[in-house]
Amino acid sequence: MAEIQIDNLLKSFGAFTAVSDVNITVKDGEFVFLLGPSGCGKTTTLRMIAGLEMPSGGKIAIAGRDVTYLRPRYRNVGMVFQDYGLYRHMTVFGNIAYPLEVRRLDRATIAEKVNAVARTMQITDALNRKPDQLSAGQLQRVAIARMLVRDADVFLMDEPMSHLDAQLRGQMRAELRHIQKQVGVTTIFVTHDQLEAMTMADRIIVMKDGQMLQFATPREIFERPATEFVASFVGEPQMNVFDVTLTQSDRGMVAATPDFAIALDQDWVRRNHLADRAGQIVRLGIRPEHIAIQAGVDAGHPIAATLYSFEPTGAENLYVLRCGTVEVTTRTSTTDTAHLGKDHGTPLAAHIDQNWIYLFDKQTGHTIAQAAASRTDEEEA
Ligand code: ATP
Repeated sequence: MAEIQIDNLLKSFGAFTAVSDVNITVKDGEFVFLLGPSGCGKTTTLRMIAGLEMPSGGKIAIAGRDVTYLRPRYRNVGMVFQDYGLYRHMTVFGNIAYPLEVRRLDRATIAEKVNAVARTMQITDALNRKPDQLSAGQLQRVAIARMLVRDADVFLMDEPMSHLDAQLRGQMRAELRHIQKQVGVTTIFVTHDQLEAMTMADRIIVMKDGQMLQFATPREIFERPATEFVASFVGEPQMNVFDVTLTQSDRGMVAATPDFAIALDQDWVRRNHLADRAGQIVRLGIRPEHIAIQAGVDAGHPIAATLYSFEPTGAENLYVLRCGTVEVTTRTSTTDTAHLGKDHGTPLAAHIDQNWIYLFDKQTGHTIAQAAASRTDEEEA
């Protein structure tokens, strides 16, 4: 059982705090992603788990053993880095065999293990070649094979797919997820690519400025974001977020901009104690898929808009709309909007689905009200 337990992890470089207050328990066999923008402390956190960087404070335990200050070789972790770290003078076989030779396994066992992992990673044909003679995709497979060949307690992967083209990345996402589940080794994977994390992870840790913002399943991160940052970081195109004033009207509470007002569900308003915030400016979030559009304004589509840009992606259409001072992106099926104008300036009407509205505190960024239609993992189960 290789659970990873991290308590109050801290790393400072001089006066600069790169990582603080990281508290996580990664379950045995779990595939966990560290997700966040460049410089948020993902790699530093991973390097502390690997033993390549000494923490300034806190504790790391792997399989119940305190490894906080242990040297890397005593931690039994397998790693893949962004640059793969393969030895150029060795063949692929030699590279994969190396961690086993260091452990002084006999030659027959080494050959058996290397051949088995080469079959899994589909690089048997390349075993006698040197890294310089391989494509980016093959190099990545070799690096993963070298990690898999050891009976490690934990796998750590730092942006291993960053050198692959989009098509290969897509293939490798599915393949790596499959292999991780097959071998069942607890794995932490660093990425700044939200799609990678959303499609592969059991759970995601979203980091910003050295701190954890949320640790949850991809679905919960997407549907119940803890902050405006998390909400905007996952999902493509991004969630639309704009300022509104919460205003009491004869229709109950509305979220008003200078140009339009959105009626809020009154049950939701009550459940989230929004009356306490009447008169406040807050941030309203709505994902592109939850805005419907049509040709003319009516009671069903009450927000007058003009088309700023039309972006067909093939499978769906993105419409960027100007609603007064607010700009929103909507995502629609190609059939639903086939009849609509596509030229800049075309008048349209928008309808925001009130069941999918989020509210965030303008000062702290924290979520004030989760969308009425969103569900927690407990509710989903
Ligand atoms: P990226 O995706 O760009 O690799 P990251 O989220 O992995 O980013 P880290 O590499 O962990 O971020 O860096 C976190 C912060 O710590 C950054 O501001 C970085 O400049 C700083 N940092 C990292 N290593 C050192 C070091 N050895 N000395 C000083 N500052 C460092």
